Formats: sequence, C-alpha cells, structure tokens
Amino acid sequence: MSLLNIDIRKKTYPNGCCAIENLRFSVQPGEFVAIVGPSGAGKTTLLNLIAGLDRSMDGSIVFPTGKTWHADPKVAVMFQEPRLMPWLSVQQNLELVLPAPARVQQRAALQELLASVGLADCGKLFPGQLSGGMQRRVALLRAFIVEPDLLLMDEPFQSLDAPNANQLRILLQELWQRTRPTVLLVTHNLREALCLADRILFFSDQPSTVILNFSVDLPSPRGIDDASVQKLHDSLLAEYPKLLEGKLDPLDRQGAVPFLQAV
Ligand code: ADP
Repeated sequence: MSLLNIDIRKKTYPNGCCAIENLRFSVQPGEFVAIVGPSGAGKTTLLNLIAGLDRSMDGSIVFPTGKTWHADPKVAVMFQEPRLMPWLSVQQNLELVLPAPARVQQRAALQELLASVGLADCGKLFPGQLSGGMQRRVALLRAFIVEPDLLLMDEPFQSLDAPNANQLRILLQELWQRTRPTVLLVTHNLREALCLADRILFFSDQPSTVILNFSVDLPSPRGIDDASVQKLHDSLLAEYPKLLEGKLDPLDRQGAVPFLQAV
C-alpha cells in the first residue's frame, strides 16, 4: 500500500501563475524518491503543498487510509538553508523539535548522535560558530530525530562546495539506512538524484507534471562519483537530451523507449 497519493489537477497562484497541472504519482513507504526538473517548474510549490504550508489547490494529497495527509503522519522538512535558531545552541536546536518530556531523557542520546555525525564537541556551540557544512549536519540530524514518516528535502545541499556536499550526501545515506523514512528530495542535480534515490520523477517545465518515472537500478549505497552513476547519467541524457529542461522528444512521448515507465 502506498504511503502518499498525489493527484493535483491544478495549482494556480492568486496572480494567475499556474505552477502545477495534472500531477499524479504515488510514493511507497520507505522509498527514496527524487524530483528533478527545471528551475521554476513547480517543485517547491509541490513540497509546500505536501507539507501543508500551502493548502490552496484543486486536487488531493492523501494517505491511502482516506485521512487527509496533514492529519496524521509526521512530516519533516529540510530547506535549502539550514534554518537553525541562531540564539539557541546546537543541543537546544535539536531539543526544540522533540516533545517536552523527551528533551531531558534524550540529552545523552543526542550527545551520542552528535558524536556519530562528527559533531561531538559542538552541542554547546551556537549556529554562528559553525561552518556552513556543520550547520547542514545539524539540520539533517534535526530532520531525522523526529523520526518522520516523510522527509521532504528541497535542494538541501545547494550552495555547498563539492567536498562538503559529498560528506552530507554520505551522512544522509547513513541516517536514512538507520530508520528508512520515506524521502522526497527535490534537486536539479541529476547525479545527486542517481546517487541517492530509488526512483526519479522528472518534471516538465511549468506547469509541472511528471514526464518520466525512472527506477534507479544500481547497487547501493553508491557515491556521486561512481562510474555506474556517471554511466547512467550519460545514457539518460543521450536518450533524452532535453530531459533537464523538462522535455522528452516527441518519439519518447509515444512511449516507444525502453526507459519510459507507467506513472
Ligand atoms: P521550482 O521549485 O521548481 O523552481 P517553484 O515551485 O518555486 O518552482 O515555482 C513555480 C512557479 O510558480 C514559478 O513560475 C514561480 O514564479 C511561481 N510562484 C512560486 N511561488 C509563487 C507565489 N507565491 N506567487 C506567485 N507565483 C509563484
């Protein structure tokens, strides 16, 4: 049974901008799905709708149980910026997302978690005393300690240099393996999507819809610089040269290609 069913007929902003049209897909429990599409396609709009930050749309986002999506599951969001509270210590930033009774009980566990992600002596430091990469580590940990059913990630490693982004991807893989929440990761980095995800949904240009539902059939865990990732990256773009612009060739639209799968 799927964890999440999306069926958005239309999402139009008050200024008339139609960001999403006829967007339908399902996500399975524990699945890691990447959403790849051109800038302005409507990816952030979709995450905001799923997170319940914006509820104005024509369509539905539901649990298969029939409950509305926002009523029940635990959803964590990781944005492009770490969004830590600058006046709170690292420890306090993490405690903030835990229910009050758990805060004191989990203090020792949080210390261990911090140590396990290379931040052993950072609990008492403030975000301003950390590097950008360290701040993202804390943000990543914060997203996981609530043990979410669904983790929404919006370009979380953008604007980091390559070594830092790589370390964070490896940490994400480690944390995900521990509890296996369902993840929806928005990125426009195809290699990142191929490295991290079980499945990639390629979005069209605005208004966004799914143009290709692609299962990543590679052994995991895998690194972004692995030859297998590079090979699949190259073959996908050879088959669909305008994929990252949100376009499939007319021939592909007729379904006469090996990669195309039912959405
Ligand atoms: P993406 O995340 O794929 O880059 P967005 O979801 O941010 O795209 O935006 C999709 C489209 O919706 C863009 O044309 C953008 O200008 C428009 N848009 C986003 N937010 C608003 C808003 N609050 N009001 C009006 N238009 C918006």
